[in-house]
Amino acid sequence: MSDDCVFCSIVAGDIPARTVHETDDVIAFLDANPLAPGHTLVIPKSHAPRVGDLEADLASAVFETVTTLTPRVQDAVDADAANVGLNDGEAAGQEVPHVHAHVIPRFAGDGGAPIHAVAGERPDLSDDELDEIAAAIAP
Ligand code: 5GP
Ligand code: ZN
Repeated sequence: MSDDCVFCSIVAGDIPARTVHETDDVIAFLDANPLAPGHTLVIPKSHAPRVGDLEADLASAVFETVTTLTPRVQDAVDADAANVGLNDGEAAGQEVPHVHAHVIPRFAGDGGAPIHAVAGERPDLSDDELDEIAAAIAP
């Protein structure tokens, strides 16, 4: 629990939320400023700022909730699809520093964009550069 974290306050019950799913480790609730009807956030109950800070069990629990909840969210608002994503870090647009997955219902012709739209200008990478990056990521 982090004292000045808005999502920890929701977990503690100090800030009200429209909870749609809860287990011992995970809670999901409607986003207060939804990008679409049904926009839902899935968070671990324990405070972790970034995805890399999550223990494996907790990461699994969060993703399990995302997978079970996404179809339910879509059905509830009669959506055609959904975008599921996390902003990991301030430069990626993360405003609340407590890991949360967004489930954003999408509707045919809603004027939105795919997740590919989140990045800046596309890089033009050579095969060597791609090999180098892959090697740096791989253990
Ligand atoms: P981020 O930019 O960090 O990925 O997204 C944070 C999300 O949390 C935003 O979509 C914002 O609307 C939502 N949010 C911020 N404060 C609250 C709150 O107090 N209650 C709820 N339900 N959502 C919040
Ligand atoms: Zn927190």
